[in-house]
Amino acid sequence: MSSPLSPDESPAPARETLKDALKRPLHDLRISLLDRCNFRCPYCMPESEFHADYEFLTRANRLTHGEILKVASVATSLGVSKLRITGGEPLLDKKLPDLVAGLAALPGVDDLAMTTNAMLLAPIAETLQQAGLHRVTISLDSLDPDVFKTMSGGRGDLATVLDGIAAAEAAGLSPIKINVVVQRGVNDHTVLDLLEHFRGSGHIVRLIEFMDVGNRNGWQMQQVVPSRELLKMVGARWPLRPVGRNYPGEVARRYEYVDGAGEIGFISSVTEPFCGSCSRARLSADGTLYTCLFATHGTDLREPLRNGADDEELTDILSQIWLQRADRYSELRKPEVAAHHSLSKVEMYRIGG
Ligand code: SAM
Ligand code: SF4
Ligand code: SF4
Repeated sequence: MSSPLSPDESPAPARETLKDALKRPLHDLRISLLDRCNFRCPYCMPESEFHADYEFLTRANRLTHGEILKVASVATSLGVSKLRITGGEPLLDKKLPDLVAGLAALPGVDDLAMTTNAMLLAPIAETLQQAGLHRVTISLDSLDPDVFKTMSGGRGDLATVLDGIAAAEAAGLSPIKINVVVQRGVNDHTVLDLLEHFRGSGHIVRLIEFMDVGNRNGWQMQQVVPSRELLKMVGARWPLRPVGRNYPGEVARRYEYVDGAGEIGFISSVTEPFCGSCSRARLSADGTLYTCLFATHGTDLREPLRNGADDEELTDILSQIWLQRADRYSELRKPEVAAHHSLSKVEMYRIGG
């Protein structure tokens, strides 16, 4: 017979039972490997701010793979079943396959994905799949070479990214999702061409509203193209019908082409927030755990990790963070004042979207 526990011995909440203050479970962990990137997308890391003298995290300040695995392992024991590797640009990490193998081996992980700009993907797609990566999401904002160049900050090469997508497909890293951040007056006029290209390919294009993440991308509401406007535009060209969610907490509203050419998603973070089902935690490259994309502060896990915290202590820290979580920034914000919300929001390139 088990003996009763005193209050300070009470066990951490079991897998699947951990809920935050708004009754949302912890299901997803997004792991930003590094804050560096080979692109300078103006909506994320504008060149004027992230220039040659910008001080990125040093290797010593970033979590090691071992430390990341420790956090991910504790997170999975608390109910996380979806892991996403992101950045910065995760493919700049030369030892990525080793980390993928470690994450894939964690019990309870049923979805292991990576978000990448795909510039460096082609040569390593097969290796990543063999290491245990399930699928990739590729960010590609336009197929117009000039617009693509502008939106990657002059750094990207369209043909190389398309090779990366083809290599991911050949390696079976599917279903492949293509993320498109739509900005009015920048790439909105190229959206239909991009959709036409991917219709029938099996890849799922997701049109994302330009978000007021961070403080450096000069976000303005006028640059946001609301999903309902895009839905109308796309539906006028190719009739669409809605499809149900794959799982609770899915951020994209899913549609399919009536003619059978596949699926398309709309991510309406600005105009139709989905905080009520948000089950994501985000680990930045320096080991800070954030419970919201728009957080102004997080919890440092690097110090306890480097001071030798064991799994029990880490479980305790993570549980407490999640139990207290009450974030719902997007539901509370008024778009017209969001740009002034705070000058200290965490940047997208630090927590990986
Ligand atoms: N470098 C990788 C990439 O671009 O796929 C991973 C990191 S990136 C920060 C993750 C995702 O965030 C990308 O799909 C990117 O388009 C998206 N993103 C960055 N800034 C954004 C913004 N202000 N609004 C909406 N999406 C944004
Ligand atoms: Fe780099 Fe991705 Fe940000 Fe573009 S969106 S600058 S590729 S981290
Ligand atoms: Fe989740 Fe925060 Fe985005 Fe709401 S605003 S959906 S809580 S990350």
